[in-house]
Amino acid sequence: MGKEKVKQYYIETFGCQMNVHDSEKMAGILKSEGYIETGSAKDADVVIFNTCSIRQKAEQKFFSELGRIKSLKKRRPELQIAVAGCIAQQEGIKIIKRAPHVDFVVGPQNINALRDIITSRSDSVFIDDNPSITEVELPADRKDNVRAWINIMYGCDNFCSYCIVPYTRGREKSRASRSIINEIKDLAGKDYKEVTLLGQNVNSYMSDMDFPGLLKEINKIDGIERIRFITSHPKDLSDELIFAVRDMEKVCEHIHLPLQSGSTKILGLMNRKYTYEDYKKKVGKLKEIMPQITITSDIIAGFPQETDEDHKETVKALNEIEFDGVFAFKFSPRPGTRASNMNGQVPEDIKSDRLYEILEIQNKITERKNKEFKGTLQEILIEGKDEKDTGRFTGRTRTNKIVNIPLKNNVKPADIITVKITRAGRHSLEGDIL
Ligand code: SF4
Repeated sequence: MGKEKVKQYYIETFGCQMNVHDSEKMAGILKSEGYIETGSAKDADVVIFNTCSIRQKAEQKFFSELGRIKSLKKRRPELQIAVAGCIAQQEGIKIIKRAPHVDFVVGPQNINALRDIITSRSDSVFIDDNPSITEVELPADRKDNVRAWINIMYGCDNFCSYCIVPYTRGREKSRASRSIINEIKDLAGKDYKEVTLLGQNVNSYMSDMDFPGLLKEINKIDGIERIRFITSHPKDLSDELIFAVRDMEKVCEHIHLPLQSGSTKILGLMNRKYTYEDYKKKVGKLKEIMPQITITSDIIAGFPQETDEDHKETVKALNEIEFDGVFAFKFSPRPGTRASNMNGQVPEDIKSDRLYEILEIQNKITERKNKEFKGTLQEILIEGKDEKDTGRFTGRTRTNKIVNIPLKNNVKPADIITVKITRAGRHSLEGDIL
């Protein structure tokens, strides 16, 4: 009897850090079932598309990939094809009707069912609400051995009018602090140096303690040197949280705080629950209490009923606040969201013009702010070799600036070293080891 062939899996991940970490967990489950990873779908026994539905473009990209794999299934009928992530939750059985070569559809709250699904080869749809998702401990096959993603909560209750997440990831659920702290202690034992706490809105974390309380507990864990978190909703950015970021020595001085628009009228239509003045005040407090803090944000261009005046208010906000970086996108109507049915949809060419102007302005601000780091000494955590140039290490300042440094014998990933910044570009800095 010949040796049984080791089964292989291939996971294609689209979208945000939540999806990246969900893919690490699905990989962990498959590895615990004896599968090994392959770099190409054509050699795989199980192919999983972990999808993103935040914008139409991401959805189109996925469906064209799904179309391309049809011929592989024809040649190898035993191949299992799965769709996971937000499109899985949004479309459910419609995916199998549209693409019968798909064997099963599993939503973000049901990835813990993956083991049973692949072993029972049941072809079905797993998108029910799963209240126990916060209690499920899943093995994660982490791609990085210096920094780790940590889910602290799932879902969102904010229902911003453009956002699909509350429909695809369900109601807000916070993990028990004990389970989070144990996971991080375990990682510290494996020499992880940095953790990033993940949630759609980490500021509203609430279990047996609130978010500032959780940061204080994680700050006590030996071995962990840096704590980051994403994403924060401005309406829940409390003074207590600002002081916790200042006072907890391991919590890094960077915050991602999506503004979305500089127009209070548009913020109202987006159901963001703050005005531009509220937002500006919170940023003012952050910079007053931590002058060195860096702030990045998200901006949507061309939201329904956005006039030239509204757009000008967003441009004014960019020049007033001077973010260190912005992720800006054109408004994309998502199925089932209130904004997709709103009157006053903005024509595509106007959206493009406004997005172009926003990026032009922000790129100049980002470059100028990066130049302010030139000549300064910065503490960086070495993350690994720079993928583009293996003659360099890449790392990050506490303020989340990427820094590239020349390789040096006595320096290795996970080291925290001080460097002098010698050059500054739009996307990264360069430094010399002292
Ligand atoms: S806070 Fe708003 S934009 Fe963010 S995930 Fe929740 S609904 Fe979406």
